[in-house]
Amino acid sequence: MRSFRKLRHHSGGRWAVLKILILGGTREAREIADIASGERGFEIVSSLAGRVREPVLPVGAVRVGGFGGADGLRKWLAGNGIGAVIDATHPFAGGITANAAWAAAESGLPVLHVRRHGWSEQVGDRWIRVPDLAAAAETVAGLGERVFLTIGRQGVAAFAGSEQWFLIRAIDPPEGAVPARHEVLLARGPFSVADETALLAAQRIDVLVTKDSGGALTEAKLAAARALALPVVMIDRPSLPAGAVQVETVAAVRDWLRQQS
Ligand code: NAP
Repeated sequence: MRSFRKLRHHSGGRWAVLKILILGGTREAREIADIASGERGFEIVSSLAGRVREPVLPVGAVRVGGFGGADGLRKWLAGNGIGAVIDATHPFAGGITANAAWAAAESGLPVLHVRRHGWSEQVGDRWIRVPDLAAAAETVAGLGERVFLTIGRQGVAAFAGSEQWFLIRAIDPPEGAVPARHEVLLARGPFSVADETALLAAQRIDVLVTKDSGGALTEAKLAAARALALPVVMIDRPSLPAGAVQVETVAAVRDWLRQQS
């Protein structure tokens, strides 16, 4: 992993504080804010897009809302004395990740991308991997009448032309076009395998659609689908920008922080 040590400069016999922007909206980002605020020598500010109406907030300073594109982010970094960026956004938040990579490179700042490991297929799984939402909508058409759509609130419009019935689960209601026949279930994980299995059975679900988000918070639905031998349309993640420095765990971020002190 690239060392960030060179960013710390000696000031009056003491190490200067390194100000870190944590791009968040995930559990990992909140955990990173927790540990970074407990380490000496760092000042943190977390950033949320402002998509969720009642977000779970991290500890410490928080700003909310977009930066106005990649160049807006570059200017924000300069204006706020940021020395390093930790991109702990969701694996499917490809826009802000690309902006962070670009803005940090332009500013000569290091950026660490935190990407939890994706889910792995197990014995008994019936997964069909697809590259994107459009391919998922096409694929699901042949897999049954009742679809459980668990891709969050964004991206539902890709299924708007589908004729099947959809159970759409998200934290907030979807915006924009939705399938003609659907029901919205507002809920926030974590979910248990028992509850997920009961939901799939009660709703007579034929097929599950999900992003390969990874992580424990929402993986129970996969065990439930396995138990009921249901097919799962698994949408692959977008790639990280070329040359991105990546870690998979919060523990690896903690190690990096400790190396700085
Ligand atoms: P995105 O498509 O990559 O980003 C679109 C725009 O939203 C960005 O260009 C930026 O606006 C703004 N933005 C995104 N994340 C931001 C952040 N942390 N702080 C400030 N501005 C941010 O992102 P997305 O998929 O809409 O996700 C939005 C947020 O929800 C992210 O923070 C992500 O971690 C979280 N999230 C996403 C998903 C998902 O499935 N995509 C799931 C769970 C949580 P400007 O260009 O104006 O700066």
